Amino acid sequence: MSNLNHLFSGLGTTVFTVMSELAAKHDAINLGQGFPDVDGPEAVRRHAAGLLLDGPNQYAAMTGMPELRKAVAADNLRHYGLDIDWQSEVLVTSGATEALTVCLMGMLNPGDEVVMIEPFYDCYLPLVERAGAVAKIVSLMPPEWELPEAQLRAAFSNKTKLVLLNSPMNPTGKVFTRPELELIAGLIEEFDAYAICDEVYEHLIFDDHKHIPLMTLPGMRERCLRIGSAGKTFSLTGWKVGYISGSSSLLSTIAKAHQYVIFCTPPALQHAIAYGLENCGEFYKTLAAELQGKRDFLKSTLEGLGLKVLPVDGTYFLTADITPFGFEGTDYDFCKFITEKARVGAIPTSVFYHPETPNVPHNLVRFCFCKRDEVLSEAAQRLQQHLR
Ligand code: PMP
Ligand code: GLN
Repeated sequence: MSNLNHLFSGLGTTVFTVMSELAAKHDAINLGQGFPDVDGPEAVRRHAAGLLLDGPNQYAAMTGMPELRKAVAADNLRHYGLDIDWQSEVLVTSGATEALTVCLMGMLNPGDEVVMIEPFYDCYLPLVERAGAVAKIVSLMPPEWELPEAQLRAAFSNKTKLVLLNSPMNPTGKVFTRPELELIAGLIEEFDAYAICDEVYEHLIFDDHKHIPLMTLPGMRERCLRIGSAGKTFSLTGWKVGYISGSSSLLSTIAKAHQYVIFCTPPALQHAIAYGLENCGEFYKTLAAELQGKRDFLKSTLEGLGLKVLPVDGTYFLTADITPFGFEGTDYDFCKFITEKARVGAIPTSVFYHPETPNVPHNLVRFCFCKRDEVLSEAAQRLQQHLR
């Protein structure tokens, strides 16, 4: 193994696969890996099915089909007032994961520094490090996940190339506020840097919170790459259709990475997502309202068992503090325990911290609540039966 790539040969299998396999082995309800158990709009799926039969079924345009690029540009205008040129400022990717990969490959040189706010999504660190860049970590801590201004400022230097920002944030469920975004934007300008904005949960927001793309702040239009995912917006996570919106001066180089990583995304899926963006806006509005109810149900279930549930403003995920429950062991032990004994799977939050961060919390567990009500009820019953 040692003559293979040092970084990847030293990594374990992603926690989502590990915990999903453990859940399957114990016939557990999988509240670990984040995916809905109801597929997105039937009209979108029918649209794709028709195109799979009738075509097009050959390579699509490298930067994405015009129909989808136009729909993404129109969506930027409709939701955020962003005027995006569909021809030069939208790149269609195979999921947000590919979008993140090609943005990092296209922008980073060895030795560049990347400001990363943890806990962060699990692919971020390996991709940044594989590009030869240096992660400068800013730690958010429970229960409020406040952005620590001094630590953020200290993470910037004249080597800072970009900030990797995820809002609404996985795994915390935090939605960054305007003052926090203004702080980040000010530092980006001061240090002449860029931002890759992972906004895959842009439409899955609760209560009266509002998603504000960093790109809409003064001075940020040319410095931000905004990433969306049809998987999240339309509950079709297996489709892996993503899109990047941003200045052509950045996107033209990122497309050079994309052309050699994947070249293009299945045309039927692109076309169907274009249809969804244009016709199915009600779907994700309803979805957000439904998810809010599911969050509240799971929250009251877990609180009833003595766990403390942290505030959640968006995403599929809720974080519970297991300390009050008196479990002896780490968050990982707890997830293993409930998967094996109560047959309900979850994800330990500590995996989303940098391995060298001091004082990583080991008392937090991430539960995914985008499941049918009867599935959540069954999970609640199992937890009540085994944890009481
Ligand atoms: N970013 C975040 C924050 C995510 O949670 C996920 C996965 N759900 C992704 C990116 C990857 O999205 P996709 O499935 O579109 O690749
Ligand atoms: N984003 C999903 C999560 O956080 C997992 C996606 C994956 O398994 N790669 O649960």
